[in-house]
Amino acid sequence: MKVTYLCPHCRSAINAGNNIILSAKSSANKVSLILLHEEIGNYTSDLSASLTVEKGEVVDLFCPVCHESLNIPQKDALAKYIRIDDNCNECYIIISRKYGENITFKVDEKKQVDSYGEKLSRFIDPEWFLFL
Ligand SMILES: [Zn+2]
Repeated sequence: MKVTYLCPHCRSAINAGNNIILSAKSSANKVSLILLHEEIGNYTSDLSASLTVEKGEVVDLFCPVCHESLNIPQKDALAKYIRIDDNCNECYIIISRKYGENITFKVDEKKQVDSYGEKLSRFIDPEWFLFL
């Protein structure tokens, strides 16, 4: 009954305990670890001590294992990683990189999109996920 999150580049597991662990870089080029709750729609997060991020600030997100970017190119401050549930179903999770913006999208193999968190007008048009 355990969910695994993977880096889309190296496919290393990036969750431990109840957290997804990512590397984050602020606009001031400070780097830190960020912990996101693994439950979809739970926006509890923690930063390690080397970074402070203001609400509304956009951070770059990286795999903590291979250091590849998780940012979605061309897309509006989004990042993605892979989720595998206990039935071995694989999907993409897409999150906002804007601190304090509590949105999540789950995109399955059939490009079916589920949306969680706040409803933001800039994401009403679902065309963006075709770039995945
Ligand atoms: Zn990786």
